[in-house]
Amino acid sequence: MSFKNINFSQYSSFKIGTTLEVLVVDDCNAVLDDYYLIGSCNNTLIGEYPPPLMMLSKQYDYIKIEDAVLKIGAATPSGKIASFCKKNNITNFEFVSHLPGKLGGLVYMNAGLKEYEIFNSLLTITTCSGSQRKEDINYGYRFTDINEVILEATFELSYGYDLQKVTMFKEMRSNQPNTPSAGSCFKNPSGDYAGRLIEAVGLKGVLQGSMSFSEQHANFLVNNGNGKFEDAIFLIQEAQKRVYKEFGIWLECEIEVLDKRFMGEDSPLIEPKEA
Ligand SMILES: Cc1cc2nc3c(=O)[nH]c(=O)nc-3n(C[C@H](O)[C@H](O)[C@H](O)COP(=O)(O)OP(=O)(O)OC[C@H]3O[C@@H](n4cnc5c(N)ncnc54)[C@H](O)[C@@H]3O)c2cc1C
Repeated sequence: MSFKNINFSQYSSFKIGTTLEVLVVDDCNAVLDDYYLIGSCNNTLIGEYPPPLMMLSKQYDYIKIEDAVLKIGAATPSGKIASFCKKNNITNFEFVSHLPGKLGGLVYMNAGLKEYEIFNSLLTITTCSGSQRKEDINYGYRFTDINEVILEATFELSYGYDLQKVTMFKEMRSNQPNTPSAGSCFKNPSGDYAGRLIEAVGLKGVLQGSMSFSEQHANFLVNNGNGKFEDAIFLIQEAQKRVYKEFGIWLECEIEVLDKRFMGEDSPLIEPKEA
């Protein structure tokens, strides 16, 4: 088994966390059940009591055209996917250059911008138990029921890289802060916006240590300097409590919190069941 030391205060987009040993997965034999798989931690908040972690090796970092489909390894960064598509005049991936992460994370989260989601042109995924068609996976807004390590995915191949879309996605991004974050902190509840609700309960811009919900976009939890996990989790829970009290809506985390105290079915971040 091989391990790699990762300093999460540099590696994660939140710039929070310490240095941890991460198991490097070269093949399915190295996948351990009680280990949690990370990609590039652009949607992840690492806590003080993280589960044991694993990540795919560089072996899964590839993108190619084969048998008239696009084949992408799960450890391929979104920037590489965007560049390959531009170079080869492939369309439907213009939005990924604005979604930091690796292919596995993008597919698992069904990441996207508005109606442009990674599942739109997905055909199959490969995991350690074989190949699965898109039709056999439950998916929706920032959700899939995939519960295995994704190794590779294939996508429809359509030609005609669209520069207008590139400009449109860039504009969509213009209201988002550059301060370290993990993108949207909560999923938008049906018919509403998490950012509007956070602002309505008076939490926009309020500092807890160095963490705050951004003045620029209230659903972005940002690290203004030396942000700590405890400050981040305080604000997340405060937003959930206040919004629930005022609007009866439970804000569901879009970010993944990797701390044993906040994971699993008993997590205090999950909507409490009515007695
Ligand atoms: C500034 C900023 C803006 C963002 N904007 C958006 C946006 O507009 N839309 C959007 O959808 N997201 C957005 N995000 C979030 C992020 O880009 C996506 O969630 C991305 O998919 C995360 O990929 P990752 O490799 O970093 O995954 P990680 O954060 O490492 O992991 C996320 C989840 O994916 C799972 N996972 C990772 N790899 C695999 C794999 N190989 N197999 C199975 N599961 C896996 C992990 O277990 C974890 O549960 C933004 C993030 C930032 C920092």
